[in-house]
Amino acid sequence: MLKLENVQSGYGNKLAIKDVSLEIKEGEIITLIGGNGAGKSTTLMTICNVVSCRAGSIKFQDKEIQKMGPDAIVKLGICQVPEGRHIFPQLSVKENLDMGAFLRNDKNEIKKDMDYVYSLFPILAERRHQDGGNLSGGEQQMLAMSRALMARPKLLLLDEPSMGLAPLVIKQIFEIIKQINKENNTTIFLVEQNANQALHIADRGYVMETGRITLAGPAQELLANTDIQKAYLGI
Ligand code: ATP
Repeated sequence: MLKLENVQSGYGNKLAIKDVSLEIKEGEIITLIGGNGAGKSTTLMTICNVVSCRAGSIKFQDKEIQKMGPDAIVKLGICQVPEGRHIFPQLSVKENLDMGAFLRNDKNEIKKDMDYVYSLFPILAERRHQDGGNLSGGEQQMLAMSRALMARPKLLLLDEPSMGLAPLVIKQIFEIIKQINKENNTTIFLVEQNANQALHIADRGYVMETGRITLAGPAQELLANTDIQKAYLGI
């Protein structure tokens, strides 16, 4: 579904990702793990062309997308939930969800999708008239994910959804990521520092260090790898 080949990108005269190649098949949950500053967020932002791809190619369903604008990429079915959520704090929960469906005009289907996200996160239904900025961190993460789902993505890019959340909320968020993947066949690309939880829900994983992919394989293999255990799993 998504294929990156020898992708480079960065900021100013600094390359943040160097020769990154990876592949995601339809229906998979793929995780990209790595330490601070490894280049994980930059990889997601390069896929969405928020950060420009300087070399290499990015194909989505066999179509080159690295020169397409971010809005055209959303229209193709790729939607990102950025690190730090970036919900609209002064808009209500419902208005935030409306913004997610901004590029759609199939009213009946939009209503169905809103009911679906409210069923995934009943707390958002209870708070639908409350300002997004007054939600807890966990609820804001739920809202950010729900807003992305309102675009009916084929590929959902999640940047550190567990960041700053309490363990119970993290557990809930990871369970829902799995549910979204199963129920809608939404392909998921999950960037996480919480390698343990991410690998437990993923089919396969990639490890990134200083802008390069250094290891890749089935999630179960990465969980059993002693180098990964020492570096990322605290074992
Ligand atoms: P973290 O998990 O800490 O968010 P990451 O793996 O997502 O890290 P990136 O945020 O992609 O890493 O950062 C990769 C490199 O690019 C780092 O060296 C970082 O300092 C640099 N970088 C990130 N954003 C910018 C920016 N806007 N301007 C300049 N350099 C940046």
